[in-house]
Amino acid sequence: MGKLSGKVALVTGASKGIGAAIAEDLAANGASVVVNYASSKAGADAVVEKITKAGGKAIAVGANVANPEEIGKLIDETVKAYGKIDVLVNNAGIFDPAPLEAITPEHFHNHFNLNVLGLLLTTQAAVPHFPAEGGSIVNISSVVATLAPAALSVYNATKGAVDTITLTLSKELGPKKIRVNSVSPGMVVTEGAISKGFIGSPFEAKAVEETPLGRVGQPDDIAAATTFFATDDARWVTGQIVKVSGGAR
Ligand code: NAP
Repeated sequence: MGKLSGKVALVTGASKGIGAAIAEDLAANGASVVVNYASSKAGADAVVEKITKAGGKAIAVGANVANPEEIGKLIDETVKAYGKIDVLVNNAGIFDPAPLEAITPEHFHNHFNLNVLGLLLTTQAAVPHFPAEGGSIVNISSVVATLAPAALSVYNATKGAVDTITLTLSKELGPKKIRVNSVSPGMVVTEGAISKGFIGSPFEAKAVEETPLGRVGQPDDIAAATTFFATDDARWVTGQIVKVSGGAR
């Protein structure tokens, strides 16, 4: 019996990177997992196959959570497959560097529509499907909310917003016994971090220098912390913003 046996977990943006590692770890702990993706069906199918081959339960559901019209379908398919939601991990997010002079309304809206509005509307749609005994919502934030590296104003601001939403919703959803916490990774080696040029760059070297544990993170470093918040081990923990960053702050 895993710590999440009988529980249903929905992970947004789980076709790769941090979300994929979280989906795999929640499933390894016994949860039935919905692996959401936006465009990488093959990636999501591979995550589902890995989980099922290891004896776990998972399905892949495509939905762009930056599009309010697609969120209903994601929640409907989750409930149709597994009947309820005990754990929601709001992980889907984008991070494009842009110094002040490069910021456009499009850059702003792309980030806020997914990282903030998508998180809020997914949570809004999921909450009615939590059971009476409550559950756990984990928002994947970032140390950038407070570390505030240069040339990332809009992305940094989305994660500041995520942390404020975590605090607010912990109060609002406490009466429903739904705990809400932020897990804030430092720099993690993911497909996204590689494709945006962070990994292997001076930005990575600076991040390692500012990290007491002296390395960047791996997706499973973040998954372990997320699973803690998802389980009953964190039953008295809500409204927390926990940096999982090797000490970078
Ligand atoms: P990643 O490798 O780029 O993966 C992003 C995931 O999100 C993919 O599964 C992608 O699915 C999905 N996604 C993108 N847009 C989506 C949308 N509109 N709707 C639904 N899913 C969508 O990213 P990552 O590095 O793992 O980052 C995951 C989270 O961790 C983000 O919130 C990010 O801000 C946060 N974070 C990352 C780092 C880091 O250094 N990597 C550090 C701190 C925080 P498709 O492939 O199907 O598009």
